[in-house]
Formats: sequence, C-alpha cells, structure tokens
Amino acid sequence: MLNNVALFVEPKNISLQTIDIPEIKETDILVKTAYCGLCGTDIHLFDGNIPFVNYPIVPGHEFSGEIIKIGSKVRNDLQIGDRVAVDPNLSCKDFQKKKCYYCMKDRKHFCLAWEAIGVTLNGAFAEYVICPSTVAFKIPENVSLRAAAFMEPLACCLHGLNKLEITQSDVVFIIGGGPIGLLMLSILKGTTSCKTIVSEPINSRRNLAKKLGADVIINPLNDEVFPILKSETFDAGVDIAIECVGSIVTAKQALDSLNKGGKALVFGVADPLSTINLDIHRLYSNEISIFGSFTNPKTNMKALDLLSKEILTPIPLISHEIQTNKIEETISLVKSHADNMNKILIKP
Ligand SMILES: [Zn+2]
Ligand SMILES: [Zn+2]
Repeated sequence: MLNNVALFVEPKNISLQTIDIPEIKETDILVKTAYCGLCGTDIHLFDGNIPFVNYPIVPGHEFSGEIIKIGSKVRNDLQIGDRVAVDPNLSCKDFQKKKCYYCMKDRKHFCLAWEAIGVTLNGAFAEYVICPSTVAFKIPENVSLRAAAFMEPLACCLHGLNKLEITQSDVVFIIGGGPIGLLMLSILKGTTSCKTIVSEPINSRRNLAKKLGADVIINPLNDEVFPILKSETFDAGVDIAIECVGSIVTAKQALDSLNKGGKALVFGVADPLSTINLDIHRLYSNEISIFGSFTNPKTNMKALDLLSKEILTPIPLISHEIQTNKIEETISLVKSHADNMNKILIKP
C-alpha cells in the first residue's frame, strides 16, 4: 500500500513523495488523515531548529482521521471506520516498555523513551499515518474532523492553563494572538469570567481576538503596553501573563507585567539559547511564579470534551485549508507575518 507524503528531506527542503506503508505492528492502527494542523513546531522543523530531529521526516502532529487498518492486539473499543484524534506524544506505555523514571512518577511527557509522531516519527502531512492504538482518542459524534484536529494544541493549552489555577477575578494578559494565543483566549472565554487582554501586532489576528471576546486588545507596535495594563488593573499589573510567542522580548514583557502574586506561563517555543535576566528580589518580595509547559499529558479527553460540549469552537481560527503541495509557500507566508494567516489546516 502506498502513501503520498510531504517529506522534509532536510531543513528547507520539502519533497512530495509516494512511499510504501510498512506493515503495522499488532498494537498499531493505520489512520487515514482527514485534517492536520500546521504548527510553529513544523516551521521549526522546516528551519532545522529542533536539535533532536533526524531527517528525512514527515511532519504533522495535530491530526484527525479515520482508522482504516487495525493490529491484532489493539484494544477492542477501537474499530475500522472509527474517527479518531491522536495524541502524538509517545511514552513507555505506547512502546509496551517497562516504565522509566518519569513514567513511574506519572510525568509521561518527560518519558526517557519519548518520541512524537510528526516530530521524531513520520506524521500526518501524509495520506496515512501509523500510530500506537494507545494514543488514539475516539472523536465524539457531534465533533467534526476539522475541530478534532485541534485536540492536540487545545490539550497543550489546557495543560499550561491548569498550572496557573486561574480564578474568576483574575486579569489575564495573553501575549500573542496567533492560533495558540487565540485558543488560550477561547478556553478562558468558555470556562471563566476573567478579564482578558490580548497583545498582537497583526491586524487580522487582533480582529479575530475581538470577535472571540477579548476584553482589551493591544497593538504592541502602536500602543503603550504597560500603561494600558495598569489602567485595566488599578495600577497593579496583571494577575496572569501567558506568553504565546517564544521570544526574549515577550518573555520579559510577561514577567514585567505581573502584579504581586502574579503568575507567568512561558508557553511559546523560544530558540534553545534564549536567556533573560531575572530580578530575583522581585520574585521573592512580590511572590512571582513562573511556569513552563510542555505538551499535553492527561488533557486530551478534556480537550475533546470542551469541543463536544461546545464550550468553545476552534473553527473561526482556521484561515486556510491547503494540500501538501502548498506547505512550503504557506510556511513562508506565515514567516513573513502576512495578514490573514491564522490556523492552517492541511488536507492531505
Ligand atoms: Zn503543535
Ligand atoms: Zn517512560
């Protein structure tokens, strides 16, 4: 059986190829991809910025699809024809291995055998993807395959937000109104009543933030950010800052924006060598907390549940649906900060 894939042969070199699908293992399933999100990680893969990746690789880790083949030892609640969304992060359990140190501690996202479909293993910029059945989640009937392609990024956002223990009276500052910043906003709007402030330089994304219900919208290229934050918080600064860009400037901004007791979530993927100075006296005297967030352990079901209960919908975030032959062109548009680019779904 053959598979049409977008192969990243090496950094900055995408080749559309037809390759053989290997026999699946008895605990695996074969999924026909319906939709796969294009994520910042894929752009890092294109640029060659992820140190532990071996090329050639087929990216694509935010996907939904239909099971078309099933191994003989797959758990029996999965069947051919089922619609599934897949958690791309694999740990000891998915490889049928004895638990490593982190898996024993129930922190499987730090698994010493960690691999990810679409990052270290071939993913869903392809007609078909092989997955361990242990990471497939059945899509609730009322959730579309399009919306289900957002399970993974939504679950990542939920994992980060869980750390912050946001209360209803908090003022939350979201830095960056790209797909992740706007998913964060959608979750907060659907599940809390807190005041949200979004900072984003691209016009179309600010407009979308407004449609999604952001209470205050800042254009960091024109507006004075800190005076606005102060005017929205009785001069105190914000309770929560969520950095969704991955730059030094915005990470500093997140910390500098906090009030006493404030919490910052560093969510954006920064370059590996990025560092900032920390005012450690302020950490102490103002009880500042800083959180990191990596992938999505334990939050995939919750993500599907939010979609199924229509607490939020990611559909307005989709700006483009493309085929694999447009990936390279689309990546350069995203990198040039073109207007009207938000979430891009690939339909292989
Ligand atoms: Zn992603
Ligand atoms: Zn492990």
